[in-house]
Amino acid sequence: MKLIFLGPPGAGKGTLAKIVSEEYNIPQISTGDLFRSAVKEGTELGIKAKRIMEKGELVPDSLTVELVKERLARPDAATGYILDGFPRTIPQADSLAEFERLDSVINFTLDDGIVIQRLSGRRICRSCGAIYHIINLPASREGICDRCQGELYTRDDDQIESIKNRLEVYKKQTEPLIKYYREKGKLKNIDASTDPEKMMAEIKAIIDR
Ligand SMILES: [Zn+2]
Repeated sequence: MKLIFLGPPGAGKGTLAKIVSEEYNIPQISTGDLFRSAVKEGTELGIKAKRIMEKGELVPDSLTVELVKERLARPDAATGYILDGFPRTIPQADSLAEFERLDSVINFTLDDGIVIQRLSGRRICRSCGAIYHIINLPASREGICDRCQGELYTRDDDQIESIKNRLEVYKKQTEPLIKYYREKGKLKNIDASTDPEKMMAEIKAIIDR
């Protein structure tokens, strides 16, 4: 089962990718991880990417595509995979289509209001890193970690202005891809406002069809 996961921050995409990956025994592949491990292992592509990033330049599509292609050719991805964070552009999507035949693109849909509510409510312990949520998982005493009594804070990324900014960037980048895959008949929308069990049931129905 060859899948792409698309979705805004806070949609639970990562959580579901992990569940699907375990249930169907297919790897979850993110380009971020691919770059980090290629650089760490010092592969040819990793060395190239490192040189480019050290100069503060953007890694070209062709290099990202090569990295993904190399990863998808490994035996553990033979029966399927979940791509997360790739493709990001139409040229990347076109390149991918040249060597892979995707089954479905799972698009996690979530209203902006819920994204903002989910992310802005997140609180993190300064001492032990425990994660809370003011509504979904509140600490017993406001602002204080249950585990270690550390101080809870809001990450800069989770400030409302920053969330709105991330959402804008996400939409600008993803809307063309959504249209692209819709036109190819690959796009499957998943309602990400529900719980992970319901989302998993929807995804299973798509995979097992
Ligand atoms: Zn703590």
